[in-house]
Amino acid sequence: MVTIKEYIAPKTIEEAYELLIARKNNLILGGCGFIKIGSRNINTAIDLCNLSLDYIVENEEEILIGADTTLRQLEINNIIKNHCGGAISQGVSYIVGVQFRNMARVGASVFSRYGFSDLLPSLLVLDAKVRLYKGGVMDLKDFLEKKYEKDILLEVILPKKDGIAVYDCLRKSSGDLPIINGAMFKGNNCEYVIAIGSRPQRAKLAEKSMEALEYGASIDKVADMVVDELHFGTNMRGSREYREEMCKVLIKRMHDKVGGYHDR
Ligand SMILES: Cc1cc2nc3c(=O)[nH]c(=O)nc-3n(C[C@H](O)[C@H](O)[C@H](O)COP(=O)(O)OP(=O)(O)OC[C@H]3O[C@@H](n4cnc5c(N)ncnc54)[C@H](O)[C@@H]3O)c2cc1C
Repeated sequence: MVTIKEYIAPKTIEEAYELLIARKNNLILGGCGFIKIGSRNINTAIDLCNLSLDYIVENEEEILIGADTTLRQLEINNIIKNHCGGAISQGVSYIVGVQFRNMARVGASVFSRYGFSDLLPSLLVLDAKVRLYKGGVMDLKDFLEKKYEKDILLEVILPKKDGIAVYDCLRKSSGDLPIINGAMFKGNNCEYVIAIGSRPQRAKLAEKSMEALEYGASIDKVADMVVDELHFGTNMRGSREYREEMCKVLIKRMHDKVGGYHDR
C-alpha cells in the first residue's frame, strides 16, 4: 500500500525541486502507474501538473517533449509519428493498453531508466537529450550511464534528423514486458545507429557494431558483433542464450525494415 502524508502541486519548478530534496521520502508524481504497484510511505508527493510541462512542440532544429506528456500523446501526436518514420510512437504502442498509456508520463518513464523500456531504444537511436532541472541538458546515452541522483526531468529534446528509424521487440504476449527490444536508425547517408534494450539491462548503443555496418560489414556479421559487444543476462522472461539468439533476429529484421537490404 502507498501512503501519502502531504500532496503539493507547486507553482514553480524551483519550489518543486526544493520540496524534492527536502526529505528522503519526498517524491515527484508522474501518472503513478509504477508508484502505486509498490508499497511505500511518501512524505510529500509533488505533482508537476501546474508547471505546463505537457507539450510536444517543434522548431527548425528540435522537437521538445515536456515531462508531463503522456505516452499516449507520444503515440498519436503527428509530430512524433512523422519523425524519422515514427519509431517512438511505434515503441510506446506496445506498452500495456491505451488507458494505461493515457496515464503514464514521459518524464517518469525516461527518468526511471527501466531496463524493459519500450521508449528508450528509439530515443537513443534518435540522439535524444534530456533536460534536468539540476543536471541541465545532457545526451540521453550519458544520462543512462549516470549514477542515480534526485532531480526533475523537465523535457526530452529530439534533434531533427534525416533518415528512418524502426523499433522492434519480442514479447511472450501483448501487454507483457519485452524479452528483448531495440531500435535502428538509418540516415540518408547510410549511417546507422543501433540500440538494444531489455537485455534485461537498460537500452544501450552498440557503437562498434553500428560503425562496422556503416563501413560495409554484412548484417550477419554485425548481428554477431552486437551480441559480443553488449552484455546479455537471464531473468524470468528469458535466458542470456535465448536473448543473444533473439537479438540477432531483431537486428536483421530491423535492418530489413530500414531498407538496409539495399546495401547488401
Ligand atoms: C504494470 C506495468 C506494466 C508496464 N509495462 C511496460 C512495458 O511493457 N514497457 C515499458 O516501456 N514500460 C512499461 N511500464 C512502465 C510505464 O510505461 C511507465 O514508464 C511507468 O509506469 C512510469 O510512468 P508513470 O507516469 O506511471 O510514473 P510514476 O509511477 O508516477 O513514477 C515513477 C518514478 O518516476 C519518478 N518521476 C516521475 N516524474 C518524474 C520527473 N519528471 N522527473 C524525475 N522523476 C520523476 C517518480 O518519483 C517515481 O520514482 C509498465 C508499468 C507498469 C506499472
